[in-house]
Amino acid sequence: QAKHQGKNQFSFYTEKMKINTYELIKEEEDLAKAIKNNEFELYYQPQFDLHTNQVFGAEALIRWNHPEKGLTFPDHFIPLAENTGKIIELGHWIVESGISYLGKRKKQGMPEIMLHINLSSKQLSDPTFVSFVQKLLLKYDVPATSLGFEITETSILEDVELAKKMLQTFQNMGICIAIDDFGTGYSSLAQLKNLPVTLLKIDRSFVMDLEEDEDDRKIIEAIIAMAHKLNIKVLAEGIETREQWIMLESFNCDFGQGYYVSKAVTADKFNRGLPITHHDI
Ligand code: C2E
Ligand code: MG
Ligand code: MG
Ligand code: MG
Repeated sequence: QAKHQGKNQFSFYTEKMKINTYELIKEEEDLAKAIKNNEFELYYQPQFDLHTNQVFGAEALIRWNHPEKGLTFPDHFIPLAENTGKIIELGHWIVESGISYLGKRKKQGMPEIMLHINLSSKQLSDPTFVSFVQKLLLKYDVPATSLGFEITETSILEDVELAKKMLQTFQNMGICIAIDDFGTGYSSLAQLKNLPVTLLKIDRSFVMDLEEDEDDRKIIEAIIAMAHKLNIKVLAEGIETREQWIMLESFNCDFGQGYYVSKAVTADKFNRGLPITHHDI
């Protein structure tokens, strides 16, 4: 009987796998086409100084203007791009778009900003990536100090030594290295001293319950104190309320980002300065 059941289960899985494989191939083809058809777009979310209230930069967040599904968010296609290897091509597109955006702003005499671009682990193990970035900075006449890369603790762990070397090279060039979603990975604060880190981004999950959860408050205060001792700046993600802003500022958190000031907006909108809703903080 067990054998019979097992057989049924097997056929059930194969049926399901057929559908999944079909869908996967379709999505993979969509992804490849989308790069060619220019369906991707970088949106920009302002990052601000918690003490001066000034916007000093932005995080580039990718969006897919899908011909059928409409505006599609990265959680729906970045994992697929990573699993199929398409992330290398897409990553090239992302980095070039971001740097060319900085170049355009510079040409037009707009205020200098710092742009943070998210990297995936596959990019960190691509030995040609450093020279790719160097060429783009030259091509668009952008100083390395205007650029930052956001990486997660887990993405470094794939090949720690290679990733460390690459990040060190980037930091030596003047590029800011930020640890994204800090506090959600397995690594500890102690590991930071082994990495060339400029900025820590405290994960939104700690900021969310700041007002109610005393433990989260203590964790954030400890992270900030530790980071500052190591000469690392701290940015809090996902600030949605005035209370959170004020509390984080009182903890001496350096920077912030979140819907309280603005979600990610198009380049045009960011250029016009419209994302900043004028809360009087
Ligand atoms: P992330 O890098 O941690 O980006 C922060 C995410 O939180 C963004 O979602 C942003 O829109 C959202 N967010 C910002 N402020 C708030 C807030 O106040 N409240 C709430 N509820 N959410 C907020 P998004 O754009 O959907 O991106 C999701 C993730 O996809 C990113 O997380 C990042 O890991 C990845 N991603 C986005 N763009 C890229 C990219 O260009 N390359 C790579 N490799 N990954 C990307
Ligand atoms: Mg990020
Ligand atoms: Mg994050
Ligand atoms: Mg994230």
